[in-house]
Amino acid sequence: MRNFDNKARAYALKNATHHGGKANSGAVISGLFAEGLEKEEVKRYAKEINEIVTSVNKLSLDEQEKEYEQIKDSISEREVREGLEELPDVPKSGVVMRFRPAPSGPMHVGHIITSMISCLYVKKYGGKFYIIIDDTDPETVLAGAYAQIKKNCDWIFGNVTKYINSSDRMKLYYEYIEKLISKGKAYVCTCSVEKFKEFSELKENCPCRNNDLKENSYRWKMMLDKKGYKPGEAVLRFKSDMQDPNPAMRDFPLARINEHNHPKQKKKYRVWPLMNLVVSVDDIELGMTHIIRGKDHMDNAKRQKMIFDVFGKKFPWTYFMGRIKFNDLVLSKRKLNAMINSGEFSGEEDERIPTIASLKKRGYKPEAFTKFAEQRGLTEVDKVIDSKEFFKIIDGFNK
Ligand SMILES: [Zn+2]
Repeated sequence: MRNFDNKARAYALKNATHHGGKANSGAVISGLFAEGLEKEEVKRYAKEINEIVTSVNKLSLDEQEKEYEQIKDSISEREVREGLEELPDVPKSGVVMRFRPAPSGPMHVGHIITSMISCLYVKKYGGKFYIIIDDTDPETVLAGAYAQIKKNCDWIFGNVTKYINSSDRMKLYYEYIEKLISKGKAYVCTCSVEKFKEFSELKENCPCRNNDLKENSYRWKMMLDKKGYKPGEAVLRFKSDMQDPNPAMRDFPLARINEHNHPKQKKKYRVWPLMNLVVSVDDIELGMTHIIRGKDHMDNAKRQKMIFDVFGKKFPWTYFMGRIKFNDLVLSKRKLNAMINSGEFSGEEDERIPTIASLKKRGYKPEAFTKFAEQRGLTEVDKVIDSKEFFKIIDGFNK
Protein backbone atom coordinates (compact mmCIF):
# COMPACT_ATOMS: atom_id res chain seq x y z
CA MET A 1 0.00 0.00 0.00
CA ARG A 2 2.41 2.63 -1.29
CA ASN A 3 3.84 4.50 1.66
CA PHE A 4 0.60 4.29 3.63
CA ASP A 5 1.38 1.13 5.59
CA ASN A 6 3.22 2.81 8.38
CA LYS A 7 0.81 5.74 8.47
CA ALA A 8 -2.22 3.45 8.56
CA ARG A 9 -0.72 1.66 11.52
CA ALA A 10 0.00 4.98 13.26
CA TYR A 11 -3.60 6.15 12.77
CA ALA A 12 -4.93 2.83 13.99
CA LEU A 13 -2.77 3.07 17.11
CA LYS A 14 -3.78 6.68 17.65
CA ASN A 15 -7.46 5.88 17.34
CA ALA A 16 -7.11 2.83 19.60
CA THR A 17 -5.29 4.71 22.35
CA HIS A 18 -8.06 7.32 22.31
CA HIS A 19 -10.82 4.73 22.48
CA GLY A 20 -9.87 2.31 25.22
CA GLY A 21 -7.72 0.10 22.98
CA LYS A 22 -10.12 -0.44 20.06
CA ALA A 23 -9.46 1.24 16.75
CA ASN A 24 -11.94 1.38 13.89
CA SER A 25 -11.04 1.39 10.24
CA GLY A 26 -13.21 4.45 9.48
CA ALA A 27 -10.95 6.62 11.63
CA VAL A 28 -7.88 5.20 9.92
CA ILE A 29 -9.29 5.95 6.48
CA SER A 30 -10.18 9.55 7.35
CA GLY A 31 -6.66 9.93 8.75
CA LEU A 32 -5.20 8.67 5.50
CA PHE A 33 -7.23 11.17 3.51
CA ALA A 34 -5.15 13.84 5.24
CA GLU A 35 -2.05 12.02 4.00
CA GLY A 36 -3.13 12.12 0.37
CA LEU A 37 -5.20 8.96 0.03
CA GLU A 38 -7.79 9.41 -2.73
CA LYS A 39 -11.44 8.37 -2.30
CA GLU A 40 -11.15 6.01 -5.30
CA GLU A 41 -8.29 4.18 -3.60
CA VAL A 42 -10.20 3.28 -0.44
CA LYS A 43 -11.64 0.10 -1.90
CA ARG A 44 -8.24 -1.07 -2.99
CA TYR A 45 -6.72 -0.65 0.47
CA ALA A 46 -9.73 -1.65 2.59
CA LYS A 47 -8.53 -5.19 3.20
CA GLU A 48 -5.06 -4.11 4.30
CA ILE A 49 -6.47 -1.43 6.56
CA ASN A 50 -8.79 -3.95 8.20
CA GLU A 51 -5.87 -6.29 8.79
CA ILE A 52 -3.87 -3.50 10.39
CA VAL A 53 -6.80 -2.55 12.64
CA THR A 54 -7.29 -6.18 13.67
CA SER A 55 -3.63 -6.59 14.52
CA VAL A 56 -3.55 -3.33 16.49
CA ASN A 57 -6.67 -4.29 18.43
CA LYS A 58 -4.97 -7.48 19.56
CA LEU A 59 -2.38 -5.44 21.47
CA SER A 60 -2.89 -4.22 25.03
CA LEU A 61 -3.50 -0.52 25.55
CA ASP A 62 -0.01 -0.28 27.02
CA GLU A 63 1.59 -1.85 23.98
CA GLN A 64 -0.45 0.40 21.70
CA GLU A 65 0.66 3.50 23.53
CA LYS A 66 4.32 2.44 23.42
CA GLU A 67 4.25 1.68 19.72
CA TYR A 68 2.30 4.85 18.92
CA GLU A 69 4.94 6.93 20.71
CA GLN A 70 7.56 5.46 18.37
CA ILE A 71 5.79 6.03 15.07
CA LYS A 72 3.47 8.96 15.67
CA ASP A 73 5.83 11.38 13.94
CA SER A 74 5.08 9.65 10.65
CA ILE A 75 1.61 11.20 10.50
CA SER A 76 0.65 14.81 10.10
CA GLU A 77 -1.49 16.72 12.54
CA ARG A 78 -3.98 17.75 9.93
CA GLU A 79 -6.68 15.18 10.45
CA VAL A 80 -8.78 17.13 12.91
CA ARG A 81 -12.17 18.71 12.92
CA GLU A 82 -12.48 22.21 11.58
CA GLY A 83 -13.31 24.91 14.09
CA LEU A 84 -14.67 24.59 17.57
CA GLU A 85 -17.62 22.48 18.55
CA GLU A 86 -20.80 24.39 19.39
CA LEU A 87 -21.60 25.41 22.96
CA PRO A 88 -25.11 24.87 24.33
CA ASP A 89 -27.50 27.69 25.31
CA VAL A 90 -25.73 30.51 23.51
CA PRO A 91 -27.80 33.73 23.84
CA LYS A 92 -28.45 35.89 20.77
CA SER A 93 -26.22 38.57 22.26
CA GLY A 94 -23.30 36.12 22.41
CA VAL A 95 -21.44 34.53 25.31
CA VAL A 96 -19.98 36.18 28.40
CA MET A 97 -16.79 34.45 29.50
CA ARG A 98 -13.79 35.23 31.66
CA PHE A 99 -10.22 34.45 32.53
CA ARG A 100 -9.00 35.12 36.06
CA PRO A 101 -5.23 35.47 36.29
CA ALA A 102 -3.74 36.12 39.72
CA PRO A 103 -1.23 38.98 39.85
CA SER A 104 1.29 36.87 41.70
CA GLY A 105 3.93 36.12 39.09
CA PRO A 106 4.67 35.98 35.38
CA MET A 107 1.98 34.67 33.03
CA HIS A 108 3.16 31.57 31.24
CA VAL A 109 2.25 29.08 28.57
CA GLY A 110 0.03 27.13 30.99
CA HIS A 111 -2.26 30.15 31.31
CA ILE A 112 -2.65 30.42 27.56
CA ILE A 113 -3.57 26.79 27.13
CA THR A 114 -6.56 26.94 29.46
CA SER A 115 -7.83 30.44 28.72
CA MET A 116 -7.39 30.62 24.95
CA ILE A 117 -10.42 28.46 24.34
CA SER A 118 -12.71 30.94 26.15
CA CYS A 119 -11.22 33.75 24.08
CA LEU A 120 -11.95 31.76 20.92
CA TYR A 121 -15.57 31.11 21.85
CA VAL A 122 -16.13 34.82 22.42
CA LYS A 123 -14.63 35.46 18.98
CA LYS A 124 -16.89 32.77 17.52
CA TYR A 125 -20.19 33.89 19.05
CA GLY A 126 -19.54 37.52 19.93
CA GLY A 127 -20.22 38.73 23.47
CA LYS A 128 -17.84 39.72 26.22
CA PHE A 129 -14.47 38.46 27.35
CA TYR A 130 -13.46 39.74 30.78
CA ILE A 131 -10.04 39.52 32.31
CA ILE A 132 -10.61 39.59 36.04
CA ILE A 133 -7.44 40.09 37.98
CA ASP A 134 -7.76 37.98 41.10
CA ASP A 135 -6.15 40.24 43.66
CA THR A 136 -8.04 39.70 46.91
CA ASP A 137 -5.22 37.87 48.64
CA PRO A 138 -3.09 40.83 49.77
CA GLU A 139 -0.14 38.59 50.59
CA THR A 140 0.41 37.26 47.07
CA VAL A 141 -0.24 40.39 45.00
CA LEU A 142 2.77 41.83 43.15
CA ALA A 143 2.36 45.50 42.26
CA GLY A 144 4.05 45.12 38.86
CA ALA A 145 1.89 42.22 37.76
CA TYR A 146 -1.18 44.30 36.80
CA ALA A 147 0.54 46.03 33.89
CA GLN A 148 2.19 42.77 32.82
CA ILE A 149 -1.15 40.93 32.72
CA LYS A 150 -2.68 43.66 30.60
CA LYS A 151 0.26 43.72 28.20
CA ASN A 152 0.29 39.93 27.89
CA CYS A 153 -3.48 39.53 27.50
CA ASP A 154 -3.77 42.34 24.94
CA TRP A 155 -1.14 40.60 22.89
CA ILE A 156 -2.22 36.97 23.19
CA PHE A 157 -6.04 37.36 23.07
CA GLY A 158 -6.65 40.62 21.24
CA ASN A 159 -10.35 40.71 22.19
CA VAL A 160 -10.47 41.65 25.87
CA THR A 161 -13.71 43.53 26.63
CA LYS A 162 -12.57 44.88 29.96
CA TYR A 163 -9.96 44.44 32.67
CA ILE A 164 -11.38 44.27 36.18
CA ASN A 165 -9.48 44.22 39.45
CA SER A 166 -11.32 42.21 42.07
CA SER A 167 -9.96 44.41 44.84
CA ASP A 168 -11.82 47.40 43.33
CA ARG A 169 -15.08 45.56 43.98
CA MET A 170 -14.80 45.09 47.73
CA LYS A 171 -17.97 47.07 48.41
CA LEU A 172 -19.89 44.61 46.26
CA TYR A 173 -18.43 41.58 48.04
CA TYR A 174 -19.33 43.08 51.41
CA GLU A 175 -22.90 43.68 50.20
CA TYR A 176 -23.21 40.04 49.20
CA ILE A 177 -21.73 38.94 52.52
CA GLU A 178 -24.30 41.00 54.38
CA LYS A 179 -27.08 39.50 52.27
CA LEU A 180 -25.80 36.00 53.00
CA ILE A 181 -25.69 36.76 56.74
CA SER A 182 -29.20 38.20 56.75
CA LYS A 183 -30.49 35.16 54.84
CA GLY A 184 -28.95 32.92 57.51
CA LYS A 185 -26.57 31.41 54.94
CA ALA A 186 -23.30 32.69 56.42
CA TYR A 187 -21.97 32.91 59.97
CA VAL A 188 -18.87 34.13 61.73
CA CYS A 189 -16.96 31.23 63.24
CA THR A 190 -14.46 31.87 66.03
CA CYS A 191 -13.33 28.28 66.42
CA SER A 192 -9.68 27.55 65.76
CA VAL A 193 -8.89 25.80 62.48
CA GLU A 194 -8.11 22.59 64.37
CA LYS A 195 -11.31 22.78 66.41
CA PHE A 196 -13.47 23.35 63.34
CA LYS A 197 -11.77 20.44 61.60
CA GLU A 198 -12.73 18.18 64.51
CA PHE A 199 -16.38 19.22 64.26
CA SER A 200 -16.27 18.80 60.51
CA GLU A 201 -14.81 15.30 60.69
CA LEU A 202 -17.59 14.31 63.12
CA LYS A 203 -20.15 15.98 60.81
CA GLU A 204 -21.20 18.11 63.77
CA ASN A 205 -22.07 21.80 63.95
CA CYS A 206 -19.58 24.10 65.62
CA PRO A 207 -21.16 26.24 68.37
CA CYS A 208 -21.06 29.36 66.18
CA ARG A 209 -23.31 27.81 63.56
CA ASN A 210 -26.43 28.21 65.68
CA ASN A 211 -25.90 31.88 66.55
CA ASP A 212 -28.84 34.11 65.69
CA LEU A 213 -28.81 36.91 63.14
CA LYS A 214 -28.15 39.57 65.77
CA GLU A 215 -25.06 37.79 67.10
CA ASN A 216 -23.80 37.10 63.57
CA SER A 217 -24.21 40.72 62.51
CA TYR A 218 -22.36 41.82 65.63
CA ARG A 219 -19.55 39.35 64.96
CA TRP A 220 -19.29 40.52 61.35
CA LYS A 221 -18.84 44.10 62.60
CA MET A 222 -16.13 42.83 64.93
CA MET A 223 -14.35 41.29 61.94
CA LEU A 224 -14.38 44.64 60.13
CA ASP A 225 -13.39 46.63 63.23
CA LYS A 226 -9.67 47.15 63.81
CA LYS A 227 -10.34 46.89 67.53
CA GLY A 228 -12.40 43.74 67.06
CA TYR A 229 -11.13 40.25 66.24
CA LYS A 230 -7.48 39.80 65.44
CA PRO A 231 -6.36 38.00 62.29
CA GLY A 232 -7.02 34.29 62.67
CA GLU A 233 -9.56 34.76 65.45
CA ALA A 234 -12.63 34.72 63.24
CA VAL A 235 -13.61 33.57 59.78
CA LEU A 236 -16.85 33.95 57.83
CA ARG A 237 -18.29 30.59 56.77
CA PHE A 238 -20.91 29.59 54.25
CA LYS A 239 -23.66 27.51 55.82
CA SER A 240 -23.67 24.53 53.46
CA ASP A 241 -24.26 21.10 54.94
CA MET A 242 -22.13 19.58 57.69
CA GLN A 243 -23.35 16.14 56.53
CA ASP A 244 -21.99 16.64 53.00
CA PRO A 245 -20.15 13.44 52.01
CA ASN A 246 -17.27 15.59 50.77
CA PRO A 247 -15.57 17.19 53.82
CA ALA A 248 -14.27 20.05 51.66
CA MET A 249 -17.88 21.20 51.09
CA ARG A 250 -18.79 21.45 54.78
CA ASP A 251 -19.29 25.12 55.77
CA PHE A 252 -16.37 26.33 53.67
CA PRO A 253 -14.86 29.78 54.46
CA LEU A 254 -15.96 32.92 52.58
CA ALA A 255 -13.84 35.69 54.14
CA ARG A 256 -10.98 36.17 56.56
CA ILE A 257 -9.06 38.91 58.31
CA ASN A 258 -5.70 39.77 56.78
CA GLU A 259 -3.97 43.02 57.68
CA HIS A 260 -1.15 42.61 55.21
CA ASN A 261 -0.56 45.72 53.13
CA HIS A 262 -2.25 45.40 49.72
CA PRO A 263 -0.14 46.91 46.89
CA LYS A 264 -3.21 48.62 45.39
CA GLN A 265 -5.67 49.10 48.25
CA LYS A 266 -3.03 49.63 50.93
CA LYS A 267 -4.60 49.30 54.40
CA LYS A 268 -8.12 50.19 53.30
CA TYR A 269 -9.58 46.74 54.10
CA ARG A 270 -8.85 44.21 56.77
CA VAL A 271 -11.44 41.59 55.82
CA TRP A 272 -10.73 39.90 52.50
CA PRO A 273 -13.25 37.72 50.67
CA LEU A 274 -11.98 34.32 49.58
CA MET A 275 -12.02 32.87 46.12
CA ASN A 276 -15.40 31.14 46.08
CA LEU A 277 -17.24 34.25 47.20
CA VAL A 278 -15.34 36.58 44.89
CA VAL A 279 -15.83 34.35 41.85
CA SER A 280 -19.55 33.82 42.55
CA VAL A 281 -20.26 37.53 42.98
CA ASP A 282 -18.30 38.45 39.84
CA ASP A 283 -20.01 35.76 37.77
CA ILE A 284 -23.47 36.81 38.99
CA GLU A 285 -22.84 40.54 38.56
CA LEU A 286 -21.14 40.26 35.15
CA GLY A 287 -23.74 37.83 33.83
CA MET A 288 -21.32 35.06 32.97
CA THR A 289 -22.97 32.59 30.57
CA HIS A 290 -20.27 29.97 30.02
CA ILE A 291 -17.23 28.96 32.03
CA ILE A 292 -14.37 26.80 30.81
CA ARG A 293 -11.77 25.98 33.39
CA GLY A 294 -9.41 23.30 34.64
CA LYS A 295 -10.63 20.08 36.23
CA ASP A 296 -8.86 21.08 39.43
CA HIS A 297 -11.70 23.59 40.03
CA MET A 298 -14.52 21.04 40.19
CA ASP A 299 -14.99 21.35 43.94
CA ASN A 300 -14.90 25.14 43.74
CA ALA A 301 -17.61 25.10 41.08
CA LYS A 302 -19.80 23.05 43.44
CA ARG A 303 -19.24 25.59 46.20
CA GLN A 304 -19.96 28.46 43.85
CA LYS A 305 -23.18 26.82 42.67
CA MET A 306 -24.34 26.71 46.31
CA ILE A 307 -23.85 30.48 46.51
CA PHE A 308 -25.69 31.00 43.20
CA ASP A 309 -28.58 28.91 44.56
CA VAL A 310 -28.98 31.18 47.60
CA PHE A 311 -29.53 34.12 45.25
CA GLY A 312 -31.81 32.14 42.94
CA LYS A 313 -29.39 32.54 40.03
CA LYS A 314 -28.85 30.02 37.26
CA PHE A 315 -25.32 28.68 37.32
CA PRO A 316 -23.42 29.24 34.04
CA TRP A 317 -22.78 26.31 31.73
CA THR A 318 -19.43 24.96 32.92
CA TYR A 319 -16.88 22.73 31.28
CA PHE A 320 -13.83 21.29 33.01
CA MET A 321 -10.86 20.95 30.71
CA GLY A 322 -8.26 18.26 31.06
CA ARG A 323 -4.87 19.53 32.08
CA ILE A 324 -1.71 19.64 30.08
CA LYS A 325 1.15 18.86 32.35
CA PHE A 326 4.68 19.50 31.19
CA ASN A 327 7.10 17.01 32.67
CA ASP A 328 10.07 19.28 32.11
CA LEU A 329 8.87 22.87 32.55
CA VAL A 330 8.65 24.95 35.71
CA LEU A 331 5.18 26.48 35.63
CA SER A 332 4.68 27.37 39.26
CA LYS A 333 4.53 31.15 39.55
CA ARG A 334 6.14 30.96 42.93
CA LYS A 335 9.08 28.98 41.55
CA LEU A 336 9.34 31.19 38.46
CA ASN A 337 9.46 34.24 40.73
CA ALA A 338 12.14 32.68 42.88
CA MET A 339 14.26 31.77 39.85
CA ILE A 340 13.96 35.29 38.46
CA ASN A 341 14.66 36.90 41.82
CA SER A 342 17.70 34.71 42.45
CA GLY A 343 19.21 35.90 39.18
CA GLU A 344 19.14 32.38 37.70
CA PHE A 345 16.99 33.90 34.95
CA SER A 346 17.43 37.42 33.71
CA GLY A 347 13.74 38.29 34.01
CA GLU A 348 10.30 37.57 32.68
CA GLU A 349 11.58 37.71 29.11
CA ASP A 350 14.38 35.20 29.61
CA GLU A 351 14.16 32.91 26.61
CA ARG A 352 14.71 29.78 28.65
CA ILE A 353 11.42 30.11 30.53
CA PRO A 354 7.95 29.64 29.03
CA THR A 355 6.46 32.98 30.05
CA ILE A 356 4.25 34.83 27.59
CA ALA A 357 6.74 37.68 27.48
CA SER A 358 9.52 35.30 26.49
CA LEU A 359 7.39 33.49 23.88
CA LYS A 360 6.66 36.84 22.29
CA LYS A 361 10.32 37.74 22.28
CA ARG A 362 11.16 34.39 20.70
CA GLY A 363 8.95 35.29 17.74
CA TYR A 364 5.82 33.30 18.47
CA LYS A 365 2.55 34.67 17.12
CA PRO A 366 -0.69 34.47 19.11
CA GLU A 367 -2.20 32.58 16.15
CA ALA A 368 0.04 29.58 16.84
CA PHE A 369 -1.59 29.19 20.27
CA THR A 370 -5.02 29.92 18.80
CA LYS A 371 -4.62 27.02 16.39
CA PHE A 372 -3.37 24.77 19.15
CA ALA A 373 -6.42 25.55 21.32
CA GLU A 374 -8.77 25.16 18.35
CA GLN A 375 -7.39 21.76 17.48
CA ARG A 376 -7.46 20.55 21.03
CA GLY A 377 -11.02 21.80 21.47
CA LEU A 378 -13.02 20.85 24.53
CA THR A 379 -11.47 17.80 26.11
CA GLU A 380 -11.48 16.27 29.55
CA VAL A 381 -8.38 14.23 28.81
CA ASP A 382 -5.27 15.07 30.83
CA LYS A 383 -2.08 15.05 28.88
CA VAL A 384 1.51 14.77 30.02
CA ILE A 385 3.81 16.24 27.46
CA ASP A 386 7.39 17.38 27.30
CA SER A 387 8.15 20.87 26.11
CA LYS A 388 9.99 19.66 23.02
CA GLU A 389 6.93 17.81 21.83
CA PHE A 390 4.65 20.75 22.68
CA PHE A 391 6.77 23.33 20.91
CA LYS A 392 7.12 21.07 17.90
CA ILE A 393 3.33 21.32 17.51
CA ILE A 394 3.32 25.06 18.20
CA ASP A 395 6.22 25.61 15.78
CA GLY A 396 4.17 23.81 13.14
CA PHE A 397 1.43 26.41 13.64
CA ASN A 398 3.76 29.37 13.93
CA LYS A 399 3.79 30.37 10.29
ZN1 LIG B 1 -17.17 27.93 65.08
